[in-house]
Amino acid sequence: MNQQIMQVLLVEDNPADATLVRQAFSLFPQEQWQFIGVETLGEAITAYHHMSDNPENDPFDLVLLDLGLPDAKGLETIQQFLAASPEALVVVLSGLDDATLALQAIEQGAQDYLVKDQITLQTLLKSIQFALRRQHTLRQTQRSACVTQQALQQAQAINEQQISFVGMVSHEIRNPLGVIQMSTELLQSTLDAPINAKVQKWLGKIQIANDQVVYLLNDVLTLCRLRAENLSCKYSCVRLHHFCTDLVDEIQQTSGAHHVIELTVQKGLGHAFTDIQLARSIFTNLISNAIKYTPQGGIIRFNVTAHDRWITFLIQDSGIGIPEAEQQHLFEHFYRASNAADIAGTGLGLAIVKRCVIALQGKIEVESKVDRGTTFKVQLPLLLSASDAPKNNLEVSSAIASR
Ligand code: ATP
Ligand code: MG
Repeated sequence: MNQQIMQVLLVEDNPADATLVRQAFSLFPQEQWQFIGVETLGEAITAYHHMSDNPENDPFDLVLLDLGLPDAKGLETIQQFLAASPEALVVVLSGLDDATLALQAIEQGAQDYLVKDQITLQTLLKSIQFALRRQHTLRQTQRSACVTQQALQQAQAINEQQISFVGMVSHEIRNPLGVIQMSTELLQSTLDAPINAKVQKWLGKIQIANDQVVYLLNDVLTLCRLRAENLSCKYSCVRLHHFCTDLVDEIQQTSGAHHVIELTVQKGLGHAFTDIQLARSIFTNLISNAIKYTPQGGIIRFNVTAHDRWITFLIQDSGIGIPEAEQQHLFEHFYRASNAADIAGTGLGLAIVKRCVIALQGKIEVESKVDRGTTFKVQLPLLLSASDAPKNNLEVSSAIASR
């Protein structure tokens, strides 16, 4: 507070008392005091607001308030002033040496109660300095809370912009990929096989690469969606057997003949409400991992059962496994286990899986032994009707998804 200019509102209708106060303040050389003097409560409220409502003005640091004004007397003076300006720092200057009144004034929100006849320079100095120190600390706390809040809002806005940009770009890339896919299929169907065996092989490679990019984009889009929509889901009715068969067929096509995916779905398993896009992200990632981390010729088992209001999905492989100490990090963004260094990957898949499982209010566990294999167990709530869908999740469609 050294050599700061302190703004003081002096509310005193007695000119002699006002002059005395100003003189007393001039004896504190470590501060510069700037006084604005008014004589009534009405003027005091107007002056206070004039200074604090206009950002070009410095607000008052201190209000010295007499309790015997022409338009207000006693405690009501403090009550009315603080009701109009609750953040003001008020020190009462009173002619009355009344302990009860002093206590009530403090209870009303005054910082101190000084009796005019008994004010010594020492008491005035202490009182004002303590009050100012309290005010200074309070304002600093408010200011830093405000700065933190602004920084948080800015960071959120930037984050949202980035998410929507990435989402938009990913979405737009899907169109040309669709064209590549279609053109490749057309080329394949118009070329005759004996002459073009090699060309067929290359076209097959284009298709696989194309599918992989589509999977990657779908993952990025899912991630963007989950972040942008705060984990909200779009529930629709899914025929579980169809859903799993379609998914396995699709993955089997892109993974080639080197791995067999064995699907077992519990007999009589019907439909359930879920978010089809999130569910696809979960199982595409887990089955693709099982294939990727299992040497050629391996079998991947995908087992689906329902029991006690949960659907349980087991994805089991006999691949390289995951070292026990590293299993706790699997769901972190970009985490890759030490024994997977020679196999391409970004470490995003399981992070997406985890977010999707959380969004669907499910559970995920992993059991793995190095060189023996890995089993992921996903449990999703068995929602049999649209009204079972969690209320915080927004969109529910009762139409049966066609996939
Ligand atoms: P991508 O983002 O392309 O999926 P990724 O497969 O490396 O890359 P995640 O799917 O997140 O990333 O998997 C994280 C890590 O977990 C993998 O790098 C691998 O070390 C380990 N992992 C996941 N699934 C298996 C599995 N079935 N068998 C062995 N290791 C696995
Ligand atoms: Mg993966």
